[in-house]
Amino acid sequence: MSKYQVNEKGYYGNFGGAYIPEMLYPNVEELRQQYLTIMQRPDFRAEFNQLLKDYVGRPSPLYLARRLSERYKANVFLKREDLNHTGAHKINNTIGQILLAERLGKKRIIAETGAGQHGVATATVCALKGLECVVYMGAVDIERQAPNVARMKMMGAEVVAANSGSKTLKDATNEALRDWINNPVDTHYIIGSVVGPHPYPDMVARFQSVISEETKRQLLEQTGRENPDFAIACVGGGSNAIGMFYHFLDEPTVRLVAVEAAGLGVESGESAATTALGREGVLHGSRSILMQTADGQVVEPYSISAGLDYPGIGPQHAWLYTSGRAQYSSITDDEAMKAGLLLTRLEGIIPAIESAHALAQLEKMTFRKDDNVVVCLSGRGDKDLDNYMKYFGF
Ligand SMILES: *Cc1c(COP(=O)(O)O)cnc(C)c1O
Repeated sequence: MSKYQVNEKGYYGNFGGAYIPEMLYPNVEELRQQYLTIMQRPDFRAEFNQLLKDYVGRPSPLYLARRLSERYKANVFLKREDLNHTGAHKINNTIGQILLAERLGKKRIIAETGAGQHGVATATVCALKGLECVVYMGAVDIERQAPNVARMKMMGAEVVAANSGSKTLKDATNEALRDWINNPVDTHYIIGSVVGPHPYPDMVARFQSVISEETKRQLLEQTGRENPDFAIACVGGGSNAIGMFYHFLDEPTVRLVAVEAAGLGVESGESAATTALGREGVLHGSRSILMQTADGQVVEPYSISAGLDYPGIGPQHAWLYTSGRAQYSSITDDEAMKAGLLLTRLEGIIPAIESAHALAQLEKMTFRKDDNVVVCLSGRGDKDLDNYMKYFGF
């Protein structure tokens, strides 16, 4: 058993666990008892793999970016999660969870969403399976993210506004939890990242681990070596990064680099650089590292990319950080936007602003010329075109 994976008590080192109200215990316990058994069943494996292949479009290519490689004087590979159906890695997880929900006999799906990306990925798999779908979203976010709200509605999902607090992601999460408490028997709650009470972080990590599983095979085919020298990914809650790191955790020659959003600057008060600014605490059902005030109030995070705008990180990341297995750095809005434009101009690929944070990290590193460097291109930039246009004044 890897020291970087969850133990039988649901912990990664000091982090993880299930800090939940008693009313939620039956729901979470049912999931904890069933998830591994169901995921290992042949019928589950067969349907999961078939949908990843024919519906999501996997395996996603591992692309050797030649002009990027020239610039950074190393072999830079992009893991193309941007080419997945719905445009990002999130669908890997929602496909997995909908198949699990079906096998648990659930008829109704709920989710929370900030920018709407996870809401869209959830509404998509509910349409695919004909299951009822309710997505909670802060009233402010509903205003800001109209195209994703429209997508969810077109898929047949009900989008419910959260009107409490700052009317953003954490308020939507509270509403979703309240719904789950009130509907324990027929409802499954699809969480969108490697966060939440055990077993969610482990379950989501397993669904996203297909990213590094494929990368290993593709690197071997293309270079004759299955392990890269560096694996780099952005971190909001941390699911694309855990997916990218998963099969390399116990390969000490692979250097793992996680990139958080520094927003306007780590010291600016407008940032989402959790490891730089945070302390241990409990957020959304698990013990991890989070941005909080001296008296333990969660700090409102900021990043230009909605997907990285989260005040915590998943418990496995907290453990990879404190144990020193992975390196955590942060990238500002400006650095990310420049890296997004650079990729577009060098390779003809418009990345999600989230993914652009991982690309910007290349500027801060030095490589040997035959290093193999894999960057997780977690999503495509279509959703961010307005932001890019405004920023660059096109
Ligand atoms: C949601 C999102 C992220 C951040 O989520 P993680 O769980 O940290 O991966 C990163 N990139 C894209 C494209 C996203 O949509």
